[in-house]
Amino acid sequence: MINNCKSCQKEEKKGFINSLLGRSVRLITCEWCSDKSKYCGDCINYMPGDAWSVKLLKSESDRYSVSWLCKACQTKFSSDKRKMQDAINNNESVEIVSKNYRGYKRTSTKDIRLSSDYYKDRDDAVEELRILASFYDCNLIDNFEFIKDSDEESTESGGTYIYTVWKAVGNGTNAS
Ligand SMILES: [Zn+2]
Ligand SMILES: [Zn+2]
Repeated sequence: MINNCKSCQKEEKKGFINSLLGRSVRLITCEWCSDKSKYCGDCINYMPGDAWSVKLLKSESDRYSVSWLCKACQTKFSSDKRKMQDAINNNESVEIVSKNYRGYKRTSTKDIRLSSDYYKDRDDAVEELRILASFYDCNLIDNFEFIKDSDEESTESGGTYIYTVWKAVGNGTNAS
C-alpha cells in the first residue's frame, strides 16, 4: 500500500536503504483531522505547549494536548491561542459578584461554570478565573467563591510542609 502526504502528495518512503540514502519520508497523522489524515514533515507542525495561553487551553479541554497538527488545523489552534492570549491581556473589565450577594440579579443569556486551578495566592486564582471568563466572552462572574484545599511539599530536612491552596469558581455570564 502506498501512502501519500494529503497536502503535497509526497510518497512515504520507509526502510533501511531509504534512510541510509537520506531520502526517508515519514508521514505523521494530524491529531485533529477527523479522518486521521497523514502529512509529510513539510506539511505538519510540532506544537510546543509551554505558553501560558496553551496551558490554559489544555486545562479547559484535552483537545489542546496535541503534538502534531496539519497546517489547516494549526490555524484553528493558533486562533484559539490568540483568543486566550487576548483574554490574558484584557480581563480587567470582568465584574465579580460573590456567592453571598443577595441583591438584584441581572439577566444573562450565558451560564458557563468556570474554575481556576489551585494556587497558593488567592489573587492568582481570581486572575485565572477572569481570564477564562474573558475567553468565553463573559463580562461577569456570578456565584463567585473560593474553594480551599491543602497541598504539601517535602522539606530539605525530610519533613512535610503543608500549606493552603485556593481555587476560584463561579458562573461566567453575559449580564446586561
Ligand atoms: Zn507534504
Ligand atoms: Zn489536521
